Parts: sequence; structure tokens; C-alpha cells
Amino acid sequence: MYKRLHNYLFLLPLFFLVILLAISCFLGYVFFHTTIEFLSVIIAATVFFFTWITRHLNKNNYFLFLGIAFLSVGIIDYLHTLSYIGINIIPGLTRNEPTQLWLAGRGILSFSFLAAPLFINRKTNGFPELIFYIFLTSLVLFGVFDVRIFPAAFDGSGLTAFKEYSEVLISFVFFLSGIILTRIYDKFDRKVFFLLLSAIFFNLVSEIFFTVYADAYNFSSSLGHLFKLISYVLVFHAVIVVGLTKPYNLLFRELEQADKKKDEFLSIATHELKTPITSIHAFAQILKKHLEVKKDKKNLHIAEVLEKQSNKLNELIVDLLDVSRIQSGKMELRKSKFKVQDLLDRVTLDFQHITKHKLIMEGKAEEEIYADEDRIEQILVNLISNAIKYSPKSDKIIIRSSRVKEGVRIEVQDFGLGVPPKSIDKIFDRFYRVTEGPHASISGIGLGLYISSQIIRRHGGKIGVKSKYGEGSTFYFTLPLGSR
Ligand code: ADP
Repeated sequence: MYKRLHNYLFLLPLFFLVILLAISCFLGYVFFHTTIEFLSVIIAATVFFFTWITRHLNKNNYFLFLGIAFLSVGIIDYLHTLSYIGINIIPGLTRNEPTQLWLAGRGILSFSFLAAPLFINRKTNGFPELIFYIFLTSLVLFGVFDVRIFPAAFDGSGLTAFKEYSEVLISFVFFLSGIILTRIYDKFDRKVFFLLLSAIFFNLVSEIFFTVYADAYNFSSSLGHLFKLISYVLVFHAVIVVGLTKPYNLLFRELEQADKKKDEFLSIATHELKTPITSIHAFAQILKKHLEVKKDKKNLHIAEVLEKQSNKLNELIVDLLDVSRIQSGKMELRKSKFKVQDLLDRVTLDFQHITKHKLIMEGKAEEEIYADEDRIEQILVNLISNAIKYSPKSDKIIIRSSRVKEGVRIEVQDFGLGVPPKSIDKIFDRFYRVTEGPHASISGIGLGLYISSQIIRRHGGKIGVKSKYGEGSTFYFTLPLGSR
């Protein structure tokens, strides 16, 4: 629920805008213009600060470049607002200066959108670009306010040809940057790509309104400003909201692709390791038997260590193979109908032979389920061995089965270390391990619970844990009843 709300957070400024428009009907255009432009300035500054602060995290410098451009545009927008007719903060101004500043800001923004793709693979720490934009901004301000060599955008009789042609050129540049963006869409996270494209689109629409406007106070000018603000909000959303909520593929596919390559490597490596490990394990078992017969105690110990360690390695490979199957969506379930209670009794009995813990069976789920029996056994083995492993000082484990609304529910309760509250939400994550307190001295790689949760998910069931740190844990899962 919170997550869904979060996704619509960007609508908040739009909502605010509608209210602003309504208030402006009473308070007049200067109020509307000042508020909307200040909002743009705040957004531009935030985009700059965010991209600047996070610049070391990205290999791709598209947004860093755009962020720096937003700083320049934000400064120009700010002065455009202060020099606007009716504000009277800067003395001696006509309608020419704010219009010139507007044009400069829009020009810089459009060309920056056009140039930003060049920075996708370019290495930079951002300083050369920052210096360039500071220089450009100073040049604009100097040209407008001091030496006044910036071409006139407004003369006594109205808007100049320079202003009109510039708006057409700026619209064309926005259009071109939109086309270029569609050619490099695969460099961005999909959502970010659509946000950027929409931002360019709204900039273009805003420009079109300004190309047709004749009076700074009229309706098309209001709409132009409105669309400009919407485009800023979209960039803000792309850079900040998506950037914060997807920190690991921050805006770009690159990291996602690197992650995929890592998974592929893991998958190939484990497949290649599987065969030699299986034969080492098999030979270690044969050797052990052979030495037992020969009563060669000295070498028997070595064979036992070899068998134990190769078994551990084998289990690790099996887990890694499962993970790569899950990641590639290739984990197949071979479902059949069976009585879950029979499986529970069998697994509990097997464990009772090898552990000092007393395994107590409570309840009897007589129902049949339609599931992959080997995979459910794998989960039980994982939960019971964890219960044993993480309760070194207690001697009792309870296994419960019951009929519930969703189907059957299985629980494995131990009275051991328990899970620290801050780790509860994470222990089903891939490779997550609790590393504090007594957990630190117990070995594992953090895959068992992840694999179990994925298997349960594919069966349409639920898995979870209730735990009190220091007192013990109850891991549970539910499975729907058989339908075939
Ligand atoms: P592994 O045991 O190989 O580390 P798991 O995925 O089975 O991986 O478990 C993940 C983490 O959850 C473990 O590192 C452990 O800290 C915690 N955990 C799992 N089962 C229990 C349990 N019964 N009691 C306390 N902590 C547990």
C-alpha cells in the first residue's frame, strides 16, 4: 500500500499546481508566475544537488551532466522571475530582460538534453562541466544585464523576430533530443526512459505554447509555464524518486546487466563443478568403505574428512544450482498428490537418527496436497537442520502440522538463538546471514531460506517466521490442498 502511494508521489506537485492555478484566478498573473517559477527553481536545484552528490556512484554520467545544466537553468530561471514585470526588485528593467533570460534558460536546457547522451559512457568527475556551465551562465547574465549584447527579445512594438525564431529553434532541439533518446532507450531503466521522454515532450509542448504567445500575461503563456514545470517534475521523478527507490540500478541498465552476467557466470561455474564434485564425493565414500574393511584407522580418518568436506561442497553446489534455476525461471516443479503427514514422519525419523535434539511431532494433517514432494522435503530438511544448527544449547524441537484455511500449515519450532528483530525481514533474502552475536560462529551461506521461500512461492503458499531473539524461533509455511 505504502509502496503504491509512493509511486504516485509525483502527482503531489501537480495537485498543488491545480490549487495554485485556482488561487491565481484571484491573485493575478504575477503571483502565478512567481510561484510557478520558484517551484521550478527549487526542483532544478534539487536535481543538481542530488546528481552532484551521487556522481561517484554512477559510471554513466548522463544525469550528472543534466543535473549541472539544471543548476545553470535554475539560476537563470531565478533571475528571470526576479526581473519579471510587476516584481520591481531589480531597477531599470523593461520586458526585454526577463524574456531574454527566459530564452537563454530554455536554450541551455534544450541543448543540454541534446548533448546529455554524449555523457553516457564518458568519464568525468563533473568539474569541467560545472565550470563550463558557470561560465555560460555568467556570460548570459553579463550579456543581459551589463554589456547588453544579448539580442533583444522584446522591443517597444512587441516580441522580436530573434525571440520568435529562437523559440522555433528550441522546439526543434527538444524534438531532436526526444528522437535521439528513443535510439538509446536500452541504456536506461524502462521507467526512467519513459519519464525522460515525457519530460522532453512536455518541454516541447511548453515551447510550442510560447511560440504562439503574444502577451506575457495571456493564457498560452500560463500553459507554457505549467508544462515547463511538469517537465521539471518528471526529471525530478526520474532522477530522485526512481534513483532512491532503485539504488542498485540507479537509473541505468548497466548495473542490471552486470548483475545478469554475474548470475550467468555463477550458473556456468556451478554446472561445471557439479560433475567433478559428485565423483570426488562418490570416490571418497568408496575409499572410506574400503579402509573400514581393511581396518586402516589412520587413513580411515582422512577418508572420513574427505567425504564430509566433499559432501559439504556438494550441498553448496546443489544450492547454487537451485539459485541459478530460480534466477532464470527454470525451476520446474514435479507435482504429485501425497499425504504431507507421511513425509513429515519420514523426515523427522531420519533426523532423529543423526541428532541429539529430541524431535517432537504435534498435530496430524491428514489431508493430501498436490505439490513437488522432493522440494517440500528439501524445505523440511532445511528448516529442521537450521533448527538444530541454531539451537546449540537446547535439546528440543517441535514439528507441528495443522489444517488451516489456506490448506495445511507446517511449523518447525526451536528454543535456540532466535533471530534479531532487524534481521527478521531479511533472512529470506538471497545470501543474507545474521552475523552478530552467537550467529557469527555458525557457518552457512544464506541460501537455504531463500530457496525454501522461492519453492513455497511457486506452490502458491506462504512462508514466514516468528522469533524472539535469545529465546527461539518458529518457522512456518502453508501449502494449498491438492486440486488434482
Ligand atoms: P545459512 O544457515 O546457510 O546461513 P539460511 O538461508 O538457512 O542460510 O538462513 C539464513 C539466516 O537466517 C542464517 O544465517 C541464520 O542467521 C538465520 N536463521 C535461519 N534459521 C534460523 C533459526 N532456526 N534460528 C535462528 N536463526 C536462524
